[in-house]
Amino acid sequence: MLDMLVVGGGYVGLAAAVAVKQAAPHLDVQVVESAPEEAWKKDARASAIIVAASKMLDVFGVWDEIRPEAEPITRMIVTDSRASDPVRPVFLTFDGDIEEGQPFAHMVPNVAMVGALRGACERLGITIRHGLSATDFKTGDASVALSLSDGSVLETRLLVACDGVRSKLRDMAGIKTVSWDYGQSGIVTTVEHERPHNGCAEEHFLPAGPFAILPLKNNRSSLVWTERTPDADRLVASDDLIFEEELERRFGHKLGALRAVGNRRAFPLGLTLARSFVAPRFALAGDAAHGIHPISGQGLNLGFKDVAALAETVVEADRLGLDIGSINILERYQTWRRFDTFRMGVTTDVLNRLFSNDVGPVRIARDFGLGIVDRLPGLKSYFIGQAAGTTAKGNPRLLAGQTI
Ligand SMILES: Cc1cc2nc3c(=O)[nH]c(=O)nc-3n(C[C@H](O)[C@H](O)[C@H](O)COP(=O)(O)OP(=O)(O)OC[C@H]3O[C@@H](n4cnc5c(N)ncnc54)[C@H](O)[C@@H]3O)c2cc1C
Repeated sequence: MLDMLVVGGGYVGLAAAVAVKQAAPHLDVQVVESAPEEAWKKDARASAIIVAASKMLDVFGVWDEIRPEAEPITRMIVTDSRASDPVRPVFLTFDGDIEEGQPFAHMVPNVAMVGALRGACERLGITIRHGLSATDFKTGDASVALSLSDGSVLETRLLVACDGVRSKLRDMAGIKTVSWDYGQSGIVTTVEHERPHNGCAEEHFLPAGPFAILPLKNNRSSLVWTERTPDADRLVASDDLIFEEELERRFGHKLGALRAVGNRRAFPLGLTLARSFVAPRFALAGDAAHGIHPISGQGLNLGFKDVAALAETVVEADRLGLDIGSINILERYQTWRRFDTFRMGVTTDVLNRLFSNDVGPVRIARDFGLGIVDRLPGLKSYFIGQAAGTTAKGNPRLLAGQTI
């Protein structure tokens, strides 16, 4: 029988397996992933990784491998305008360093992060079973029996569902969600530009939703471009000429000539919060527990916080000789994570509603608010500390760069 079985070999599932196995090598930990073995290499996206998450990756021994591919965010600019406005007045600027030489976040290509986490799994002896979907599970007194798409069954003391925002395991566990659709989709693509971005990230609040330009290595930037879903689908399907013309209208000419490179894909956006994170011998982590709007680039970072809290809870219970799948233990994890998750879900929801519109009085009020924040350095450093994840009270040890 396994000790911990993770369903979903995305970033959160892999990180959960590494965190537990590294701290408790005697536990038998495995991962089941429905995608074929090499599928992760095709992901052309990148994610903003906050300092607290990079500290955890450092404890895993993978940050040094990721860092050469990671672009530090040294500055952030926020504007509020229409796509047709000739000038985008800057309402808010942040210096990206939380302390000398320590940027609050890095942009990391997903391939670099998943590749490094998979390497860590291999070094720690964690088996990843590819091309197999979890189809059902049954919970007994001492174990859970998980059925896989090839007809095999795996027994485990603890089942961790990291199977994404449309989690089937969450449904199978009977856990309900609070969820709604924003009617928006986030187009993700990469652009090459003539001039360097100098590590500056930009977020333009446009009436259809935020348009974020996030710095990558070598005069390239990653875009998260929000549009109403039918417009996003039309843009993704359009030919290169139309796509690049629409892109330029929003991106502007500050960085010189632009060229869209790589895939473009639209992700439907919504808010999904699980009503419970745990059940007997069962825990949710990552998007399976919470899918949020990418307006603040915190979705994966929230998932990494789940990983740190779950691993610390499980490993400490194991060291005390307790049953790692018992509901009393798992409820500690839920209590640790629930408030932070709810707060982030509500914050991103309010920000998206406040900024994704063109209502005159709302625009005046929000721009006034941004102007005030911009003039108060204390408030700005508070926000940067919050975004970096370094000032949160009761952070799990991994997020402070300490071993469990
Ligand atoms: C447009 C956009 C931009 C974003 N930008 C950022 C950002 O800059 N920073 C940030 O922190 N977050 C960002 N996010 C959020 C981030 O992408 C997600 O939070 C993250 O992908 C969640 O990871 P996960 O491992 O929980 O889920 P997923 O990445 O969805 O992985 C789930 C895995 O489970 C597997 N799976 C599913 N069902 C089964 C099954 N039945 N059996 C076996 N395997 C299964 C899937 O194949 C997949 O590999 C963004 C999101 C969007 C939409």
